[in-house]
Amino acid sequence: MVDLKTQYEKIKSEVDKGIQEVISQTAFINGAQVKRFQSDLAKYMDVKHAVTCGNGTDALQIAMMALDLKPGDEVITSDFTFIATVEVIALLGLKPVLVDVDPETFTLDIDHVKAAITPKTKAIVPVHLFGQSAPMEALMAVAKEHNLYIIEDTAQAIGSDYKFSDGRTAKVGTIGDIGCTSFFPSKNLGCYGDGGALFTNDDVLGEKIRSIVNHGSKKKYYHDMIGVNSRLDTIQAAVLLAKLPHLDAYNAARQAAADYYDAAFADCDKLITPKRADFSTHTFHQYTLVTKGINRDALKQHLLENDVPCAVYYPVPLHLQKAFAPYESNDADFPVTNRLIQEVISLPMHTELQEEQLAFITQTILKFVNQ
Ligand SMILES: *Cc1c(COP(=O)(O)O)cnc(C)c1O
Repeated sequence: MVDLKTQYEKIKSEVDKGIQEVISQTAFINGAQVKRFQSDLAKYMDVKHAVTCGNGTDALQIAMMALDLKPGDEVITSDFTFIATVEVIALLGLKPVLVDVDPETFTLDIDHVKAAITPKTKAIVPVHLFGQSAPMEALMAVAKEHNLYIIEDTAQAIGSDYKFSDGRTAKVGTIGDIGCTSFFPSKNLGCYGDGGALFTNDDVLGEKIRSIVNHGSKKKYYHDMIGVNSRLDTIQAAVLLAKLPHLDAYNAARQAAADYYDAAFADCDKLITPKRADFSTHTFHQYTLVTKGINRDALKQHLLENDVPCAVYYPVPLHLQKAFAPYESNDADFPVTNRLIQEVISLPMHTELQEEQLAFITQTILKFVNQ
């Protein structure tokens, strides 16, 4: 599904030099590279504050802590996402309120969000799934009307641009109150272990987040609030410093591979290629097809037998996960997610895909579909 080795080999000297520098300096925690990466990242995102942390899941938790969400508060998010988004809501004693997604973009459906708002709702967590933004302008309008916070889960969409209706653009993750991302190795900007970051344009929140990630402390051994220990290792910061300048080229390589897939499947009515929303660029963390009138699992089997990696993101909707059984939900409220989990399939997607690989992948798929 990914080829991190070839990607590394192309930037080996920059990465190795950066890592060696950290070891020579032995500032393994909060070293100079962490500060430098935060500053480079804030510049890239065009946001006032970029604060790194241990991983993307922590970033989401820290965002909810920084916004002072309290047990019992309701947080609306997607039924069709990775578990991390919902896990931290539950972990903080908040109530996850899952809603169905848009059938074409797989992101939050604005009408379902509106219908889920109650007097207890405090925040919405849009997930920019597979590399494309949720409908942020509509969500921001709803949040403003009901006085709600917006925490963007940008783990799969770092580098994507949101296009506002007035022509302005902004990086996704910098539009809501706080944006959260992950540097898990396979993410569009991945390090060589775990890592994450939060974004905000609010100075007060920025300072608070900086304190929470480091035991709720601004000055060593003085603790103003309950925090966590969630820091980006200096070695990971060195890796990310070497990789950030390549992020736009990496995303362009993903888009080129997506264009190849699109063209190959354009005339196939059994495979629906990913929709490009007019309000967002798509950085293709995943290239996900929706199958129509064919057996998705048989296609998956056929691909694996022919050495074409593929995966189903996600096979189980969150409302049916055992862990979330205590939060009652009505299965009939999720027709889109319930259908998608049976019809989606994600193809190999990374920065190193060669034309002959893409040709083999698409031919193997079309052979099954047209049989
Ligand atoms: C990867 C991911 C996360 C969590 O990131 P980690 O760094 O693995 O903790 C959160 N949300 C989404 C949508 C993700 O894809």
